[in-house]
Amino acid sequence: MRVVITGGGGFLGSHLCDALLRRGDHVVALDDFSTGEPANVAHVRDHPRFQLIRADVTNEFDVRGAVDAVAHLASPASPPDYHRLCLETLAVGSRGTENALRLAVAHRARFVLASTSEVYGDPAIHPQREDYWGNVNPIGPRSVYDEAKRFAEALTVAYRRKMHAEAGIVRIFNTYGPRMRPNDGRVVSTFIRQALDGEPLTIYGDGSQTRSFCYVDDLIRGIVAMLDSDLLGPFNLGNPREQTVRELAELVREATGSDSGLEFMPLPVDDPTRRRPVVARAQEKLGWSPLIPIDEGLRRTVAWFAPGSEESRGSAERARAMPVGY
Ligand code: NAD
Ligand code: UDP
Repeated sequence: MRVVITGGGGFLGSHLCDALLRRGDHVVALDDFSTGEPANVAHVRDHPRFQLIRADVTNEFDVRGAVDAVAHLASPASPPDYHRLCLETLAVGSRGTENALRLAVAHRARFVLASTSEVYGDPAIHPQREDYWGNVNPIGPRSVYDEAKRFAEALTVAYRRKMHAEAGIVRIFNTYGPRMRPNDGRVVSTFIRQALDGEPLTIYGDGSQTRSFCYVDDLIRGIVAMLDSDLLGPFNLGNPREQTVRELAELVREATGSDSGLEFMPLPVDDPTRRRPVVARAQEKLGWSPLIPIDEGLRRTVAWFAPGSEESRGSAERARAMPVGY
């Protein structure tokens, strides 16, 4: 297959590039590097089956040659990023999604939208199944992201109905792993960086809010299974093991061997109180289940963040200085 990945230079997108290249596919990564980094794909820039195009997908674009599938991952994803890039987030969820869908329709290609557990907002139903419609504040600080993704889902369904797009949707729950930006503000990257730097771990609120954290390799297997299917979904992709933010802080302290203290800070407005996916539908229809337990996933992530290790952010930072072949 020749697969176009919008947001291919981001955290998840770059791992998807790797997984597809490993199995023999051709990959075209499109990215404007607004929140991603060229370093994420520097190791494949000379790969004969890899191409990087620097482009903002909110502008109309075409990709020359065959396109068999489009994975639409482009969007700011961390709360500080989408607060800062509020208009860009709305644009990429709406215009960007439509441009990616148009590309897929023009090439009769499979289309997969990277949606999010945020479509459930602060969920009134727990755990979350795909038939729950959610509880989103349409004018709150998270709305630029949540509503952009909800619109993107509606657009995907409409393109499937009206334009016969072979389109599907995955709803991704909190995912972590190597290549997260140490300063992206998300909880796993922030806690690991703080623990390694000997700083207190910043807990928002009392830390009793929950999330369910999925290791990146598991998540990517789910996206690949979705690319290979012709199903609409939506499918929850996430790890059903749920923990409080406070418990996560303990796990990170164990994984890093750090004795950092805890610092309690105000809870952001509309921060969801709990989140856990039901993944039975993905298990049944895609044959997908998460496999990597959180202690193992954190160990691998810490190894990447720790200075001096082979696969470290140190090497990523060195790679960042390298020119990018596009
Ligand atoms: P990321 O910020 O690392 O990656 C997003 C990529 O999209 C970046 O490389 C960024 O530069 C690129 N991008 C943004 N706007 C663009 C535009 N207009 N044109 C071209 N490129 C653009 O974030 P991520 O965690 O890798 O998230 C990838 C996708 O998965 C996003 O759509 C996100 O909403 C979704 N998602 C991620 C998670 C998670 O836990 N990581 C959870 C739910 C959903
Ligand atoms: N969080 C925290 N400290 C941090 C960053 C985040 O306690 O330094 C909390 C945040 O308030 C939320 C949870 O961790 O309850 C997950 O936050 P993240 O930004 O990673 O993802 P999201 O809120 O989008 O699920």
